[in-house]
Amino acid sequence: MPGLSSRLTGMNDGGSDGWEVFYRARALVASGQPVTELTIGEHDISTDARILDALDAAARGGHTGYAMVPGVDALRDAIAARVQDRTGVATGRDNVLVTPGGQSALFSAHMAACAPGDTALFIDPFYATYPGTIRAASAIARPVSTRAATGFLPDPATVARLARETGAKSLLINTPNNPTGAVYPEETLRGLASVCVEHDLWLISDEVYDTQVWSGTHLSPRALPGMAARTMVIGSMSKSHAMTGSRIGWIVAPEPAIAALIDLATATTYGVPGYIQDAALFALTDDTALETRVAAPFRRRRDLVLDRLSRQSIVTAIPAQGAMYLMLDIRATGLSGRAFAEALLDAHHIAVMPGESFGTSAAGHLRVALTVEDSRLSDAIDTLCAFAARHACAA
Ligand code: PMP
Repeated sequence: MPGLSSRLTGMNDGGSDGWEVFYRARALVASGQPVTELTIGEHDISTDARILDALDAAARGGHTGYAMVPGVDALRDAIAARVQDRTGVATGRDNVLVTPGGQSALFSAHMAACAPGDTALFIDPFYATYPGTIRAASAIARPVSTRAATGFLPDPATVARLARETGAKSLLINTPNNPTGAVYPEETLRGLASVCVEHDLWLISDEVYDTQVWSGTHLSPRALPGMAARTMVIGSMSKSHAMTGSRIGWIVAPEPAIAALIDLATATTYGVPGYIQDAALFALTDDTALETRVAAPFRRRRDLVLDRLSRQSIVTAIPAQGAMYLMLDIRATGLSGRAFAEALLDAHHIAVMPGESFGTSAAGHLRVALTVEDSRLSDAIDTLCAFAARHACAA
């Protein structure tokens, strides 16, 4: 066969995509073995029956043809109203592109911000798809390191230095954060916003966990002075409404950026199925109790895990302020996150993500998704801690 483009063969930078433990766990499950899967951000509930009824009614009512590429007007209006309500920033239909999930929005935003060979900055630890997404858009993915000791918050001065050195065109941030659970404080966001203004960067603000905040307050940086003109906000219904498989999200951006992104959507996705959009419209406009219900188990389980961890001292947690994960520090065992996760899967059939899957800043950590039923999660954490204690003694 002819060679594949370097754009695709270079997506993982010659390394792995970080999902090995997840794939191994899935293979064990496929071969009939029980595994407690605490790997990906997939809810343990399925999409609410009323949303499915709306989806069914829309499809049976005939909304099965090509839908408007930018998104149907009513959904774009509902997203604009939601964003305006939450942020106070004037937002209209022409600021919104409906996308097949936040992932497509992330790719599109980088296509809009970066020409081939431009540098795109992102914060390490990062959601595992980020570097590949940036490289797929033919940009250079440049991580900005953070430290566990400072809650994995980015330092604006470091971002400024890298922006200067690389001539970067964009900065990607994610708050509430996957994998760390950090909710960026206003001071950090103001600092990052000034760097974006000073270095003429697009800020790509991934806010897909904005309904899952346990402490602190989520602030959309688009609301900071001067930022509406240089911010592309990534939204999604995957996490807020347990609609991961429906593939529905959005970009909110300045009108000229949305106009250009509609051209990209026309040449790539050609829009999102109309019946999915109708279901999303129902979910967004019906009642907000639904989002609260979807988020509630993660808050409860976060507290539950912190309680289990408080009974020992080998494994410590970065106290997540939001999102559906906890980062555990297992450096006291002397093992890497990867070695720990592989050994835990072998010994106890518990699957967690190695911190290294999310960048070098998260080495020696594990990310635990709070996505199994409470008592099973509690047992898994106890087993993980006992396993860590055995390794710490041996170290
Ligand atoms: N951003 C972050 C930080 C995520 O964790 C995810 C999904 N895990 C996404 C974006 C993409 O979500 P989706 O494509 O399902 O909207």
